[in-house]
Amino acid sequence: MHGRFQRADLAPEDFAVVSVHTVGEHLQILLRARCAMTFCPDCAGPCRRVQSRYLRRPWDLPIGGRRVSLVIEARRFWCDSVVCSRRVFCEPFDRDVLARYARRTARLETIVHQLGLALGGRPGAAFPRRLMMPVSKDTLLRVVRRRVSQQSGELTVIGIDDFAFRRGQTYGPIVCDLERRKPVTLLQDRALETSRTFLAAHPSIAVVARDRGGGYGEAIARGLPNAEQVADRWHLMENSSRAFLDAVGKSMRQIRHALGCNVIDPKLLTCVEKLQYEGYLRRQETNEAIQRLAKAGTSIRQIVRQTGHSRKLVRDVLRGQRLDVFRTRPSFLEQWLPWLNDRWDAGARNALALWRGMRSEGFTGQSGVVSQRAQRRRLAEKANQSGLARSRD
Ligand SMILES: [Zn+2]
Repeated sequence: MHGRFQRADLAPEDFAVVSVHTVGEHLQILLRARCAMTFCPDCAGPCRRVQSRYLRRPWDLPIGGRRVSLVIEARRFWCDSVVCSRRVFCEPFDRDVLARYARRTARLETIVHQLGLALGGRPGAAFPRRLMMPVSKDTLLRVVRRRVSQQSGELTVIGIDDFAFRRGQTYGPIVCDLERRKPVTLLQDRALETSRTFLAAHPSIAVVARDRGGGYGEAIARGLPNAEQVADRWHLMENSSRAFLDAVGKSMRQIRHALGCNVIDPKLLTCVEKLQYEGYLRRQETNEAIQRLAKAGTSIRQIVRQTGHSRKLVRDVLRGQRLDVFRTRPSFLEQWLPWLNDRWDAGARNALALWRGMRSEGFTGQSGVVSQRAQRRRLAEKANQSGLARSRD
């Protein structure tokens, strides 16, 4: 079937084309709504009296390799209804053509949405540019998310987890829609029956993500026997990272020993570090005392009585959960310390000269780190000398 192409075919439904121009690389189409009247968004009464006009400039689908920008002459109307509280309103267009505040027509947005779904954010951003529809990676994601949140429908994939009404005091389950990334509801309490009743009332749920504790598992099994139970990524990561940190924490002392970075000269510590170091030594003493008692066969109860420490602390020490490592902030300088110490012992005291020497051998840090270090050593030496002087008195 052949039909003549008319200029009006360029415009979305309900719009008339006033003019078409090329502006640089773009095609600019000036449009106007066909209908002389509209309806008030508040009272839905018909309105004809125009208050003023303004321009909206949304992007539209490209034509012939050119981006298309629409210039729509929109109107503000008076609402003359006596019962309506609204006086003036902006002309609303059909949501399926141009939504309120939209920067793109609905038909362009549909394609952006599809690109977002197919390609994702960052990889998707380069492709629309070649299709003459440049949108940023953030826009792609925003459009996808907006469309998901606009969908209303039944719950199919949910997550259920604890929610604190008051931290440490009252908890209840929170149910989230994982497809729309939105909380659905907060249930009153963690009783099995409460969750079971909620789940049983939503038979459309097919997948439930939960923590690895058994509580919700049983509620799901009873409320939705056919639903699949999965552990969500957050809980898997949380569990594995805790296990990893525990394992590393227990062998940290040996690791630091092997690396040779647990040699600490208390004289070279700053005031704050010195305080921390003293605390560390105190904790070490406690740990060793408890372990000695345990090795001698003393029961936990007796250790608590003898040492005056809490039961939790004693248990933590015996389980190896209170192994402590003292470390100062890792510094650029660490690997240069032997070099620096050699020069220092040979009598080099000028920090700037030391830094120049280090830089010529490949050090990339600033001179400040070296002069700070020199200052500390100077103070330490002074303290030593005054200590010697005092002991001589
Ligand atoms: Zn009205």
